[in-house]
Amino acid sequence: MINRTLAQIAAMCGGEVSAGSRPDAVVRGVCIDTRKLAPGQLFIPFVGAKQDGHDYVAQAAALGAAAALWQRDHGSPPEGIDAVLVDDSLRALQALARAYRRELPVRVVGVTGSNGKTTTKDLAAAVVGSCYRTHKTSGNMNSHIGLPLTLLSLSEDTEVAVLEMGMRGRGEIEQLTRIAEPDVAVITNIGEAHLMQLGSREEIARAKLEIVLGLKPGGVLITPGDEPLIDAHLSEFRQPDTLKRITFGRGAGNDLYPVATLADASGMHFTTNWETAPTFFLPLLGRHNVLNALAAIAAGVALGISFRDIARGLRGAELSGMRIEIVKSANGATIVNDAYNASPSSMHAAIDLLEEMKGYRRKYAVIGDMLELGAREVEYHREIGARLSPDVVDGVFAYGPLSAYSAEEAAKRYPDLMVRAYDDKDALLRDLTGVLDERDVVLVKGSRGMKLEELVHALQQTS
Ligand code: ATP
Ligand code: MG
Repeated sequence: MINRTLAQIAAMCGGEVSAGSRPDAVVRGVCIDTRKLAPGQLFIPFVGAKQDGHDYVAQAAALGAAAALWQRDHGSPPEGIDAVLVDDSLRALQALARAYRRELPVRVVGVTGSNGKTTTKDLAAAVVGSCYRTHKTSGNMNSHIGLPLTLLSLSEDTEVAVLEMGMRGRGEIEQLTRIAEPDVAVITNIGEAHLMQLGSREEIARAKLEIVLGLKPGGVLITPGDEPLIDAHLSEFRQPDTLKRITFGRGAGNDLYPVATLADASGMHFTTNWETAPTFFLPLLGRHNVLNALAAIAAGVALGISFRDIARGLRGAELSGMRIEIVKSANGATIVNDAYNASPSSMHAAIDLLEEMKGYRRKYAVIGDMLELGAREVEYHREIGARLSPDVVDGVFAYGPLSAYSAEEAAKRYPDLMVRAYDDKDALLRDLTGVLDERDVVLVKGSRGMKLEELVHALQQTS
């Protein structure tokens, strides 16, 4: 983690050591929450809508903070703590992170996209970790605060940092990429997440393409080749000849694509068009994850890692948090738990997975609303309904007012299919447990706000 004198910190963040503070005081690490403070850290107080971190600076000092930033508009810092005066503490955090990144010999891989960022970040870190001292964003800390904090937590000998970059609107990825200055930039895909805030898929593509604004000259851009919007808009952000490209996707026409894929209970085995590469094993289910793995492999290649090491890293990948998870219900049915989140592209990916799962008596889909889709939300839900044909599922349980449209569409198209819509989770659970047995599989997926994991937990407990 960052380890600098107060004078150095001030120079790095564009601040000034306050009168009476010791320029040679040393800080080790930064902290934005006194409940998590470790002695010796630099405390950074943010001004929020409800709370003002400046109210906690004295407490931070009492807890052993080595120093604090202090916004000039708050008057003078309290006695008893060394301080650096800044105009805006959030901007100062970001400037500090950028300066620290520039001082380190580290190479940075930045990962953005609509779906699969965390997965691809974890896979890329596993690939790179086979050869280099690697640090990755922990969990989902991908914001304008999380990313700088991740950079500041790097040790000086980190060789590669793999950073997730999230956004809700235009300009946010630009801000993150200008802080992280990646050597390799990955766009996982262009989906429909945040359509409501951005208005169109073109705008979503532009928002992700902002990542090239911070990409180092000659850096490598890794993108889904099956997505025409990337090529359509790249030149608005960067002369394409100032970067190298690797495209990945489902089929020929991409620089990298899978040739043969075989799924077993523990994950996917796949070969690629790169003939000298070995068969890769990915300890994750779902074809969409093969695409995430291809992006990670491409990142490894961009950093000069051999195929053997890439394959070894991928095999040992460790994933953060709630991903597609296969669990059993109390009565032995197989549950594909993907209740973590949903957008149309990830819903289609999950339905693909259900379609591929063989050897079950019946297949059911429990689908919850996909939120924040904006004006076309009904249409997107109807498209999901259209996907749920009797070739794919034996029954559909829809939960929520938007999923009711998916149910309506499925019922209209497939009159013989069992389709039910609910606005009450308990009623859904009762009916579902009534039909499930140990020979069945059920997919559970919806937006975070629908809290479908409650249903999964209940299925695991009730028989
Ligand atoms: P967040 O925006 O919450 O940070 P994320 O982009 O980091 O999400 P992940 O956490 O990796 O994405 O995956 C979330 C879900 O997205 C997965 O459970 C899966 O359903 C879906 N998903 C992952 N990768 C893809 C992909 N390449 N294409 C479509 N859907 C995907
Ligand atoms: Mg994420």
